[in-house]
Amino acid sequence: MARKKTAKEIKRLQEELTISARLVWDTVDDEDKKAVFSFAKEYMAFLDAAKTEREAIETIVEKVSGQGCVPVGSAGKGTKVYRVHKGKCAALAVIGQRPLSDGLRIVTSHIDAPRLDLKQKPLYEDGDLVFLKTHYYGGIKKYQWVTRPLALHGVIIKTDGSRVKVVIGEQEGDPVFTITDLLPHLARRTQYEKKLPEIIVGEKLNVLIGSLPFPEKEAKERFKLQVLAYLKENLGIVEEDFISAELEVVPAGRAREIGLDRSMVGAYGQDDRSSAYASLAAMLSIKDPTYTCIALFLDKEEIGSDGSTGAKSRFLESFVFDLVRLTNLPIESDTVDACLMRSRAISADVNAAMDPDFPDVHEKRNDAKMGYGVCLTKYTGSGGKYGASDANAEYMGWIRKILNENKVVWQAAELGKVDEGGGGTVAKFLAIYGMEIVDMGAPLLSMHSPFEIAHKGDLYMTYKALRAFLQAP
Ligand code: MN
Ligand code: MN
Repeated sequence: MARKKTAKEIKRLQEELTISARLVWDTVDDEDKKAVFSFAKEYMAFLDAAKTEREAIETIVEKVSGQGCVPVGSAGKGTKVYRVHKGKCAALAVIGQRPLSDGLRIVTSHIDAPRLDLKQKPLYEDGDLVFLKTHYYGGIKKYQWVTRPLALHGVIIKTDGSRVKVVIGEQEGDPVFTITDLLPHLARRTQYEKKLPEIIVGEKLNVLIGSLPFPEKEAKERFKLQVLAYLKENLGIVEEDFISAELEVVPAGRAREIGLDRSMVGAYGQDDRSSAYASLAAMLSIKDPTYTCIALFLDKEEIGSDGSTGAKSRFLESFVFDLVRLTNLPIESDTVDACLMRSRAISADVNAAMDPDFPDVHEKRNDAKMGYGVCLTKYTGSGGKYGASDANAEYMGWIRKILNENKVVWQAAELGKVDEGGGGTVAKFLAIYGMEIVDMGAPLLSMHSPFEIAHKGDLYMTYKALRAFLQAP
């Protein structure tokens, strides 16, 4: 008969055999604890500077230029190169020791976020007030966008080709804009008896921007005219210029620390700028990697990755071709395909964190938890894995090894209960090339809301994980 095990033996066996969730805070040393907070501070500054895809690209270019990166194809033949496409997506590469034909290490993230875009003819007056009409971009809960301070960001291109950059509502002393909502006193039939998506509909997301009349009483639409006069005087634009503009209405204000312990970050656009910042920081921290590393900052993920700046475009292929030329690799018709086919990639994107107020939609054994590290998501999709990118078990094994060897605190999760909903990322569009790819990123509370929440420990672990992945031999 087997000997009865001692308490110590049972404990050891339990540790050896069972999977256990690890809190970042219980696992890291004092030095890492300090790093968690200093990383978050830099990250929050990035969020404040990068509230649109164009601003994100500008901020990224500014940061990499200061670190000796040069535009690919320029006179400088450094080992760190980048390329910007249409001001809205970009790729950054660090040339490795091995030839490109041995495969690349690719980290993708997206720098677009849900918001309200101005319509082509946005300006109108009604009830002696002036509004801007919008068309929402990405998956938003519309009721979250009313009665809050909003800022206007973007560009206006005039017929002479000149560009007017707009950021109104972010500086101390700037005016802000807002969308009105019905007072509760009168909401009984119009709102309370309706279903949530019908309470605020897309066509009612009209942004209040003025209420002063044009001085001359004989003018038609005096209130709209007064706004146009202001726009002419201050931005040099006329109404038709809105046709060639990309103006985005986003929540006004800066990223904030959350909690008495300042352990979390609250801000707009953390899906997916948390991953974009982590991949940028990881790329800038690596030196002389074995494999050539690419960070791809993509646009249009929130609306399906279509378009010339999204993951479905040929931008990555074109950039890899740039690198083939840069490294003097012999060019055959399948050179780029062969490089991509042998590549390993992380689709760096966020996942949903378990919300204790909504336990019913989460599967507590398989959902991500705030503070338990970067979240590894083997597959995405919804309802029977439809539309999923499903990483190969062999690749998952290799990723686990890298994370464990580099003391990254990580958790594995999927998004919510099986039949509750779901979502996708850019992973499936890169998987087309035959590369290994898996999703990884920080878990968020209130994802896609104007004020998303991330845990500082998870943000730092995302950076550590991406750095480990890029550097792994
Ligand atoms: Mn995302
Ligand atoms: Mn998203």
